[in-house]
Order: sequence, then structure tokens, then C-alpha cells
Amino acid sequence: MAYRRRMQSPFRRFPRLALSGLTALLLTSGCQSNRVPNRDQLSDVQRVMLLPRDRSREAQQAMTPAQALEKLKAGNERFVSGTSQPHDRLAEVRSTASGQFPFAAVVSCLDSRQPTEIVFDQSIGNVFSARIAGNIINDDILGSLEFACAVAGAKLIVVVGHTRCGAIKGACDGVELGHLTGLLNRIQPAVQRVPSYVQPRTSKNTEFVEKVAAANVQVALIQIREKSPILRELLDQGRIGLVGGMYDLETGRVDFYP
Ligand SMILES: [Zn+2]
Repeated sequence: MAYRRRMQSPFRRFPRLALSGLTALLLTSGCQSNRVPNRDQLSDVQRVMLLPRDRSREAQQAMTPAQALEKLKAGNERFVSGTSQPHDRLAEVRSTASGQFPFAAVVSCLDSRQPTEIVFDQSIGNVFSARIAGNIINDDILGSLEFACAVAGAKLIVVVGHTRCGAIKGACDGVELGHLTGLLNRIQPAVQRVPSYVQPRTSKNTEFVEKVAAANVQVALIQIREKSPILRELLDQGRIGLVGGMYDLETGRVDFYP
């Protein structure tokens, strides 16, 4: 019970109290992120001019969950059409060093072929990125999402699976290996959700693998809502959105689920 009280107390009164401690140290100084550089940093100024003007608490809080989703969709559309915006990553680093106001939190796989900022054509500081093999949900991912939304003000949670996922294939085949065994066990509920008429139920069957991957995203969405009272409250109040999607390794496109 003591644990329960400890869990509830800071978030019951967020964001004021939640921002008063360590989280304030992590977040607050972004208010001064628009400092005017001196003359010998003129090239930096020129680079900063390329940055979108969406890096402020005000811009973040003015955005609706639906607008956050549209922003990600537009970014992925630019990515797949080869029209990604020019990014001066060093300028982005400098402009975000003192604070962050990401508009979305994306949970995706560890897979090296699905880098969140690139496939959604986003600048450094625009999205929280939680990556874990098989984009599964556990307590630490939930804690990260609670931080992203309840403390840092992100407006949207997106869980993005991907095609040809090695973790999904491993779960389909019941692979056991060290700590991976426990991780892959978390994908088993998705394996069970795929109807039994889909045969054979191994990684050799591409249709089965992709159905498990889709089911795994749906399981994640359910778990986020069911296991986190904090996120559920924000969702019920319409203050954040929650959506799933699938990244196609061949095209780079993310299809969002309705
Ligand atoms: Zn994967």
C-alpha cells in the first residue's frame, strides 16, 4: 500500500507538483531556448532560421492530439516521397540543448531500419522515441510514456510495429535465448490473438508473421490504456491521443490504424 501511495501522490496533482522536482530540472530551462546568439555565432543564427517555429511550450500545448498525428503523417509522407526537410542536426542540437517540448511519443522496435526521427522527418527535440525489440509494453516503457505525456506535455502516443520484425518472428517460433526469452514472451498474447486457421504458425509464414505484428500493436494499445491509470485519465479527458501503425520496411511508409 505504501508503494501505491507513493505512486499516486505526485501525479494526482500534476503538472504543478510533478514539475517541481527532478522533472523540472529536465524540462524547464527550455523557456530560455530562444536566446539571441552573439555576432560570432552568425552562422548558427542562419542555421536556426531553418528550424520550424514549433519549439516552445506554447506551441506544444496549443497542439491537439489530432494535429500531432497529422504532423507525423505529413512527415512520413515527405519521407516516402523523397522530400524530407533539410535538417541541420547541429543547429537542432544547439537550439534544443536547454529544453524540450516534444509533441509526440513514439514506441517502436529496436530494428535499425526504423529510425523514428528520420521516417517521420522530425527535428531533434520533436518526438520522444522509446525503442525496444518487438515494440512491447512493459512497466518501464509505461513509465517513460507517463513522463512524456503527464510531465513533458506530449500530445500523442504512437505505437509503430514494422514488417518482417525479427522479434515477432522469434515469438512465432518460440525462440529462447537469455533475457530475450522473457521479452519474446510478451509477444505471445499477440500470437494467440491470430486466428487458428492461419497456418502454419511459424516465421516461415509471412502472412502469420505480419498478422502477429499487427496484433502486437493492438495489444500494446490495450495495455497502455489498461495498465496506466495516468495515461488512461489523459486519454479519457482527450488531452492526449493514442494510435497504432505499421512501418513497411520496403517502402518506408507508416500505415496508421483507424
Ligand atoms: Zn522489429
